[in-house]
Amino acid sequence: MKTDIRSMLPDELTCFCKEMNLPSFRAKQIFRWLHIDGVESFDEMSNIPKQLRDKLNEIAEIFHCTIENKQISLYDSTVKYLFRLNDGEFVESVLMKYKYGYSLCVSSQVGCRMGCTFCASTLGGVVRSLTASEILAQIFAAQKDACIRVSHVVMMGMGEPLDNYDNTVRFLKLATHEDGLNLSMRNISLSTCGIVPKIYDLAKENMQFTLSVSLHAPNDELRSSMMPVNRKWPVDELLKACRDYVKTTSRRISFEYSMVRGKNDTDECAIELAKRLKGMLCHVNLIPVNAVDETGCIGSTPQRVQQFAAILQARGINTTVRRTLGADIDAACGQLRKKKMKGE
Ligand code: SAH
Repeated sequence: MKTDIRSMLPDELTCFCKEMNLPSFRAKQIFRWLHIDGVESFDEMSNIPKQLRDKLNEIAEIFHCTIENKQISLYDSTVKYLFRLNDGEFVESVLMKYKYGYSLCVSSQVGCRMGCTFCASTLGGVVRSLTASEILAQIFAAQKDACIRVSHVVMMGMGEPLDNYDNTVRFLKLATHEDGLNLSMRNISLSTCGIVPKIYDLAKENMQFTLSVSLHAPNDELRSSMMPVNRKWPVDELLKACRDYVKTTSRRISFEYSMVRGKNDTDECAIELAKRLKGMLCHVNLIPVNAVDETGCIGSTPQRVQQFAAILQARGINTTVRRTLGADIDAACGQLRKKKMKGE
């Protein structure tokens, strides 16, 4: 097994170089090539002697992404990538342009094992988790392809980041490292379906990214019918962990609420949701669910979404309706990979 060199933190890379009897400036040079230039091979490291590059090639590997497929939205120039990983697996990323810069939605796993009924990513289960370097590689590949700098990252692509906890935290450390991409922690969001013990762990890391929690329903009956994870960690326990998270980090939590027509979009749901979130430093993001053939779920109408938002706002809950980007390019998670698997 070759060393996954882009997943190493600077200290680890320094040790790695020391073991090879290299001077410490080599570790700095290599880190720059990997994390600023985003190289895909050791041969691109032009200030590293050829002999050393050959040695590195033998013992280490740079995980990177190649573009297997790319779709550009005609409406808003959102780009959806299907990336091929070193071992031939596929993941998706979505590049979105905002007033403040470019935001990339990255995947954390190949597939997902959480089983949410409305989601395309989970249809075939999980194949494996991504390494930190494979999450990073999505950023480098998108930047290179679009000739832009990514300033914001959302961990809302395929997979459950907290089901891949160590690599996710490692990715956050690397992406925000000042000698690397140097992204601002405040420009990163991490979305979870609600793995409660990991939310407590995350709070202890005390990082300043935004935690998004996919809530989608105000009570156990409804939430368990949409998200199997709720049978293990019900709404009460989840919201308790969220309150603890806010207390420990002083960061506002964002609740995602994907609206399925006739399922979780009624006035009663909005009233119940407002009651449960009352007094919490939080924000609710509403989005009509993206239709995925296999799931049979249909998104709520714009009027319903507005009415739902109005009920929450009238009860003092900070609420926004999320703009849907890339609706013409299967930008809802998992749809491209699923088509590739089916050979469509
Ligand atoms: N596993 C993480 C992150 C990936 S999904 C999580 O569950 O949060 C990112 C967000 O998209 C989640 O809020 C998820 O519930 C939502 N989502 C999944 N499929 C969707 C669909 N078809 N339409 C709208 N939102 C969807």
